[in-house]
Order: sequence, then C-alpha cells, then structure tokens
Amino acid sequence: MMGTVTTQVTGLKHYDQYIGGRWAGARSGQRLETVNPFTGQAWATVPRSGAADVDQAVQAARAAFDDGPWGRLTGRERGRLMRRLAAVIAEHADEVAAVEVTDNGKLIREMAGQIQGLPDYYEYFAGAADKIHGETIPADRSNFFIYTVREPAGVVGAITPWNSPVLLMSWKLAPALAAGCTFVVKPAEQAPASTLEFARLVEEAGFPPGVFNVVTGLGPEAGGPLTEHPGVDKVAFTGSTATGVRVMKGAAEHLARVSLELGGKSPNIVFADADLDAAANGVVAGIFAATGQTCMAGSRLLVQEDVYDDLVDRIAARAGQIRLGDPLDPATEMGPVAFAGHLAKVQDCIAAGVDSGARLITGGRRPTADGLAAGYFIEPTLFSEVDNEMPLAREEIFGPVLAAIRFADEDQALAIANSSPYGLAAGVWTRDVQRAHRMALGLRAGTIWVNAYRSVGPMAPFGGFKASGFGRENGLAAVAEYTELKTVWIELSGATRDPFKLG
Ligand code: ADP
Repeated sequence: MMGTVTTQVTGLKHYDQYIGGRWAGARSGQRLETVNPFTGQAWATVPRSGAADVDQAVQAARAAFDDGPWGRLTGRERGRLMRRLAAVIAEHADEVAAVEVTDNGKLIREMAGQIQGLPDYYEYFAGAADKIHGETIPADRSNFFIYTVREPAGVVGAITPWNSPVLLMSWKLAPALAAGCTFVVKPAEQAPASTLEFARLVEEAGFPPGVFNVVTGLGPEAGGPLTEHPGVDKVAFTGSTATGVRVMKGAAEHLARVSLELGGKSPNIVFADADLDAAANGVVAGIFAATGQTCMAGSRLLVQEDVYDDLVDRIAARAGQIRLGDPLDPATEMGPVAFAGHLAKVQDCIAAGVDSGARLITGGRRPTADGLAAGYFIEPTLFSEVDNEMPLAREEIFGPVLAAIRFADEDQALAIANSSPYGLAAGVWTRDVQRAHRMALGLRAGTIWVNAYRSVGPMAPFGGFKASGFGRENGLAAVAEYTELKTVWIELSGATRDPFKLG
C-alpha cells in the first residue's frame, strides 16, 4: 500500500512515522521495539525520534497552517474531508482494532466496537466545522459595532497514552480539525502502532500534507520537545498526573494553551435502595473492563452499610468468574495489563494494600493457568474494609484493583467521594431521583453517571476537576479548546476622539 510498513526477515513489523505527508524513520536511524503484552514478545518497531524529528513535524504542521491549502478551506470543506475520513476509518476499523489489541492487550471485544464507533466522533465534529462562529455584541455607545470571530488556535501538539491511543487522540484531533488547526501527535512508546495505522487512513482520506503528523518516541525524548516547541500553539495531553505537570511546565515556557486529561480515583457510590444487580454489573464494568486501565476507572467502591456485605459478596463472586485470556479471543473478558513495568507497579500497589491492613477478598496474584503465564496478567482484585485515607483509596493504580469503603448516609458518601485529590468521574446507584440529583450536584467531578458507568460519546463533554486536569474533550465545549476568540470594534461615526481618554 502506501509504504508505512515493511516486514523484514525477523518477523517484526517496521513502521515509519508520518511527517509532512511523507513516511520516514527517525533522523538518528534508531528504532524502538513494541511488545505484545499477551505473548511478552516484541512484534513491531517504530522510529525513536528526538527533537530534530519533532521540529520537522512542527514545521510541517506550521507550514500547512500558515501557508498551505488547509488554511484556505471553508468549514464546510473541512467537514467534508472529515466525513471522508470517517468513511475510511469505518472501512478499516477491524485492522486498526487488531493492531491496537496486539500493541496494548486490550480486548478485541471492546476495541472492535470502540474503533467502529470512531467515525461518530469525526462525523459529529464535521457537523460542527461550519458552525464555528462569533457573535455580534451590542455596544454601550452608539458609534461602535462590535463582533467576535472564532479562529483556529494554530498548531496542536498532542501527547497520548497507551490505553486507548486512537480513541483518545480522536478526542483531540476531531475538534482540532473542525476548528481548522493542524496537528502533531506523539503516541505512547508502549503502543504507538495504531496511531501510525491511523495516519495511513488520514492519507487515504486526502488531507493535505502537514495537517496531520505522527512522531514516535519516548516521553522525555520526543514528548518533551513537542510540548516545549515554540511553534506549537496548543498542547493537548492525556496521561498521568505527574507527566501532566511536566507537560504543563514545558508548555508554560512559550505560553502554549494547554488541556490536560489526567488520572482519577473515581467513586462508584451504591445506596441501599439501588438495583443491586445493576449496580454490581456497573461496578465490574467500572474496574475490571479494560483491565482497569482507564482514567475513568471506578476504582473506589462506596457502599451504604446495609447492603455492603451483600454487594461485596456479589462483586467478589463475579470477579472470580472473569475469563482471563487472549485479548484477540472474543470470549475473553479481561486481558493482561499493557507492559511489564506496569504489571510490577500494579503488584506493588496490591502488596502495599495488604500491608496497609485492608482485607484482600479476592484476586491479587498472577494467574498460573495454561496460556496465561507469558502474558502480563493479574487477577481481578477486590479489597474490603478500605479506609479512604489509605493509599489504596487515594492513589491511581490503573489496574484491576477495587477498594471497597463503607458509608452510613448520603452526607458521608459525599464527603468520602469528594475527599480525593482527583475529580474525573463518579457513579451513583440509587432509585431515589431526588437523591440522584443531590449527589450529581454535590460531587466534585467532571462526569457523573447515575445508574450507569463508563459511558462516553462525541456529544458529551469529558474532563476533570482538581488533579484530574482541565479543559474538556468532546461536545461543542471541545471546539472552544482549539479556537481563539477575536473581538473586532468598528467605529461608525468617523468622528475623532480625545486621544488621552480610554473609550
Ligand atoms: P503512563 O500513562 O504510563 O503513566 P505517562 O502519563 O507518562 O504514562 O504517558 C503518557 C504520554 O506522555 C506518553 O505518550 C508518554 O510518552 C508521554 N510522556 C512521558 N513523559 C513525558 C515528558 N516528560 N514530556 C512529554 N511527554 C511525556
């Protein structure tokens, strides 16, 4: 096809990166291996880029923004290209999903749907592309006419994590394209391949060179130079809170706009009046789906005391039955964690949880069954009798580890839920509609689900309070993140004025 991949005798796939409409290796000639977490074996290599490659990509994006054909397109024309991209993604969704599963070990059961749903994001924001406009503003004096214009923010530098590389990039790319920005993305080194596959689809859809660029490499070597590059106007980051702080500091040096989608320690709050079957199912979805490797994981389970034992028993029983296995097998319910270093971190958190005095109800070990030994598997793990001050309840683990906490009443539930450095999301399970609304208003988090968990979509803004970051992805709110607002004052009378007075 278009020369992204060349397979050599080693059996590894070798990807090139995509800069200014061309496929190439890193300037240094160096490569990084990426490992399949199910087999523990390297399966592909990508360029190991540095500042020189990043500079080239930013220059390509800059040229496409300042002087290229992209800047001359109307919103409607951008929208048309985005719809074409949506159609090309739909055609190739299965390939992209399979590559992502091979790279990060997420289930094909989830990823097939996730990538098939990707065109919805491009279609939603294609619809927005020709509706980005300012307002006329009634002036407080008769000789002025004032209006605002929304202009694209410029070159976007995006840095994405390994857990859902193409989806989380699309949450940035779709509104950025709608707004008329150009884009350089640095995917995570642990799972960079699907973003390179995606670049092939952007090329096929016919976007002008330089509008979309991918640079692969390590965080400090390639991500750092991208956030610090003075040619980048806006940095959009998803990843850990610690790295988010570093990214914001890098962007601050040249005052780039920043949006950060960071970690979470989101509570799933179950009241005694809830439908416990539905709640148990939602709690399992919140923490064991995606092997707990999602920023919105419902990693704290808050349960009202009357139903605490019952619910903990139900979840423990379900956790014990979860089918671990090959992520490419549609019957598998939980795959491995994404890489060896992460497995070690999750194991450390579990060991610290045991030491802290919480009760380990189920899980906590690496499974020994046939076919699982080579992969980075960890059992679905449930701790009970957790105190909200324990590290188990405060620190993001990003794995299949659930911390159950008891509460007496609504006020206490709210206090425990809000006593967290994070504020990304929360689930509330109750049949009482008034309580549902009181909780939704009282929780300090960016997304509240009532009798549901882990629902997202292009129309619904998503993002954090507190240490979970700021800025919103999805919904029309996301377009504002990729635009600048310009105010224009038109003098109507032709009269001169006192040059020494404001007005
Ligand atoms: P994790 O999600 O594994 O905790 P990070 O939040 O560090 O990891 O990673 C998210 C993204 O940030 C990845 O693409 C990673 O390469 C990148 N990254 C890591 N360190 C830096 C850095 N110092 N500057 C910019 N990007 C970084």
